Amino acid sequence: TRKFFIGGNHKLHGNKESLTTLIKSLNNATFPSEDIVELVISPPIIYLETAQSLIGPRIQVAAQNCYSESKGAFTGEISAEMVKDLGCQWVILGHSERRRVFGESSAVIAKKIEHAMQVGLSVIFCIGELLVDREANKTESILAEQLSDIVKSVPDWRRLVIAYEPVWAIGTGVVATPKQTQDAHQFIRKWLATNVSEQVAKETRIIYGGSVNATNCVDLSKETDVDGFLLGFAALVADDFTTIVSYAK
Ligand code: 13P
Repeated sequence: TRKFFIGGNHKLHGNKESLTTLIKSLNNATFPSEDIVELVISPPIIYLETAQSLIGPRIQVAAQNCYSESKGAFTGEISAEMVKDLGCQWVILGHSERRRVFGESSAVIAKKIEHAMQVGLSVIFCIGELLVDREANKTESILAEQLSDIVKSVPDWRRLVIAYEPVWAIGTGVVATPKQTQDAHQFIRKWLATNVSEQVAKETRIIYGGSVNATNCVDLSKETDVDGFLLGFAALVADDFTTIVSYAK
């Protein structure tokens, strides 16, 4: 059985004060027990240490990105080693905003995944199709391609969570339907069974992201292959985060 997983991706939002307030509320909230749901928040990298120092033991902290090299002349970058050095366990890689706004190729993402895992981090790996892909019936081929591009670069599947984030659902208020979500997750799991192993397919958490809120999470979380969520805006509001977590199955 797969433990439900809920991550909060803060993206480029908040400041020290708002993050501190949010974390205090999360520290005071009541969550289902640790063997039911794993919880992670991901503030902007510059606040990782603040988050790591304030957060209670119930929630882990993720970086929103890190580079594929340990050190060197890479102005503006941070390494997986640095993320680890702060005591953080997770990094988000392959997010559609990194792919599209910052031009990260699959090859770059694959290198980042491999390096982050070798350093000991766990990875939330994001994939998802554009609206034009879905309309052209190319959702499954896009997902298959994004998975094949990294499949050789995963040293430890137990430390990889796959986030299905259809690009048309991110930040749009248009959430994927439970059926669209289940279909995509089922496809991803089948792909893993064929291309990695039955065991990896069975054990890998596949979570959904894209306009999840405290209402639409109820039906989404009932789907067989939905093992959690990657929240954007809902992760910035302690009450929403807490409500969504309460539906963990
Ligand atoms: P929203 O929930 O704001 O649509 O963002 C989802 C997301 O991209 C999480 O990584």
